Amino acid sequence: MRPNGMYQTAPAGGREPKGDTLTSRLRSAVQQPRRIVARAMMAAIMIAGGALVGATTVSSPALAVAGGTSAVPPLVCTGDGTTGHRVQVVYLYENVNSFSLREAAIRQAIWEAQTNINDSARRDGGQRYLNFVHDSNCQAVITTIQTPTGTTDGNHPWINASNLTANDRIYLVLGEETTIDCGVSWNDHVEWDSTPSTSNLHNSRTSWIVYGDNCVDGHTVTHELAHSLGGVNLNAPNSDGNWHCNDGYETLCQPASGAVCPDPISIRYLDCNGDDYFSLNPTGIWLPTHFNAALHNLWLTAGSSVTPLTAPFPLPPQYLRAVDIQSTSIAFSFRPPGDTAGITAYEILRNGVLVATIPANEGRTTARVSGLPTNTTAYYNVRSRVTVGGTSRYSVASQGLAATTITGG
Ligand SMILES: [Zn+2]
Repeated sequence: MRPNGMYQTAPAGGREPKGDTLTSRLRSAVQQPRRIVARAMMAAIMIAGGALVGATTVSSPALAVAGGTSAVPPLVCTGDGTTGHRVQVVYLYENVNSFSLREAAIRQAIWEAQTNINDSARRDGGQRYLNFVHDSNCQAVITTIQTPTGTTDGNHPWINASNLTANDRIYLVLGEETTIDCGVSWNDHVEWDSTPSTSNLHNSRTSWIVYGDNCVDGHTVTHELAHSLGGVNLNAPNSDGNWHCNDGYETLCQPASGAVCPDPISIRYLDCNGDDYFSLNPTGIWLPTHFNAALHNLWLTAGSSVTPLTAPFPLPPQYLRAVDIQSTSIAFSFRPPGDTAGITAYEILRNGVLVATIPANEGRTTARVSGLPTNTTAYYNVRSRVTVGGTSRYSVASQGLAATTITGG
């Protein structure tokens, strides 16, 4: 146990507004800006009043229903999955364990976050993979913790009770049965250290991120992790004075609009213009001489050099599922990516050929593909499309799904 008050709230992160629902976001071709809500001034974390009820670990997910659902891609493995600075994913509940209902959202969100961060480095011709605690199959190890009723709110007594205090971990927690308003992040006295080296306090202090039960997606997870990694210092040139930025579409700018990065698709990236907190080729008057999350973090593993990305592109939906199979048609559902701003449509491919288009502004996440041959197996994927001025950009395809029409008659 730690002394009471050791973990005073650092002026880190921000309490995020309640996220729009998936449906309402899909109805808007351009995602509504998220409101800025006053940063949580959380009191010192108290020592737990109740005992830890129990903790179990889930490492090998049983996500794929044979022939029915394609799982999210695995993470990119870094090292042995345990050693060094890593994000530990936690599912926390008081009375009702609904992990099976949340697992898809969690795994899709963390895959998107690792991809968003790496693609932010790919803009500069490099790669940076966020380290997660993962198993040998590159699946995040998700620790499930049950805490006594009433302990998941307020001063988060479960943190000490559950020993979520290692200084080489960012604890990414989905809290069931809480009143958390979307997401909140804080750390152990990093104090917005801007020292431009790996000795920066961002590398030696614990961070915590906690979400309410319905607010985990690729956007919210990327956003809070970007806070934990170091964005946006109040002295950075495009700080909004509240740990966010104001120069364009990127994960930490609120509202996400501005003249510098006007393409809504770039909302999934970190650091519009590479001059505030994350760039392999930092520019401007601040970032080349201050803490740069892309260069000075121990939470990231460098990958090989790549051709720099040019135009932003979206992420695909995941969890393509055959929800109804008939002799000449199959109905599919899917989970859209966390960042839907700027996406024009979702497309279902059969053996690589486009067979269904779902306009994003219809808000549908289902489609029926008809006119199929009976008793025939084909390979299906779903992807996102952005079309501006007659020119289209595409996401990569989702994980594939083999599905077989039934025998007619
Ligand atoms: Zn924020």
